[in-house]
Amino acid sequence: MALGHQLWPKPEDLLRQLGITDAREIELEAIAQYCGATIVYEPLHGCEARLLAHRDRAIITVDPDSHHHRKRFSAAHELGHWMLDRHQAGFACTQAMMAKSWSTALDRQRQVDPEARANRWAADLLMPEYLFGPLAEDSAITLDAARDLTRIFGTSLIATALRLIRFGSASSMLIWSRPGQRYKWFRSSPRFPAALWPRPEPGPETVAYRLLRGFKEKRGPALVKWDQWVDLPNPWQSFVREDSMRMRNGEVLTLLEWDDETPLDDFLNQQPLGRRHLVGERGRA
Ligand SMILES: [Zn+2]
Repeated sequence: MALGHQLWPKPEDLLRQLGITDAREIELEAIAQYCGATIVYEPLHGCEARLLAHRDRAIITVDPDSHHHRKRFSAAHELGHWMLDRHQAGFACTQAMMAKSWSTALDRQRQVDPEARANRWAADLLMPEYLFGPLAEDSAITLDAARDLTRIFGTSLIATALRLIRFGSASSMLIWSRPGQRYKWFRSSPRFPAALWPRPEPGPETVAYRLLRGFKEKRGPALVKWDQWVDLPNPWQSFVREDSMRMRNGEVLTLLEWDDETPLDDFLNQQPLGRRHLVGERGRA
């Protein structure tokens, strides 16, 4: 039985209604049918995926030439548009539009930007908290851990890494750096003090610094002084676990994990009382 068109549940409620208890059961084509949308795979020009809606039915078209994980996310993204913005007859989404909304910094912008909302909806559907959360809690916050999770959930590395810092048990950050420029964007875990931002460029002792300059580095996490990454009002002699990789375009993706959170607690305690529990909206995962 298809879903009544007046009832538009949240992704997790939808998955529970369908009795899904395992990531391998998240079959997008079947879920889309349940929501009144049909997914087809046909070549597209000028966009990665498209939604065309008429009354209570929609057609989602996804370019078949993309990587499997990207096709899956694009389909879920369009389904998100269908479930969130049914008043709009159509969407044509490029990879750049979807990627740009990852970098939308402010929570309030992410809530009103249809692309960011569709991305969030897709992430909630493909990596629901009740399946992803328990795995993330037990996991290190590293690129290899994120890669393992991409295999389970069929999702892209960046979407999965964002989820990992959101549901992981340690304070952490995901940072996208560019050669010779200020970072492109960053997100921090919910417990991370909102007033702490990354340095505009990684410090010279970081792995990312060398990767951005074309050097080869050993794969895997390394311990780095954390003032190399975060602007601190007072320097602490403490370390952060850095896991960085260079992408094809020369930009660098970094996961930071704080094993020792004492300096973070100290920082929070030094804040004026009214600001201590202020969860900053910039860069939250
Ligand atoms: Zn879109």
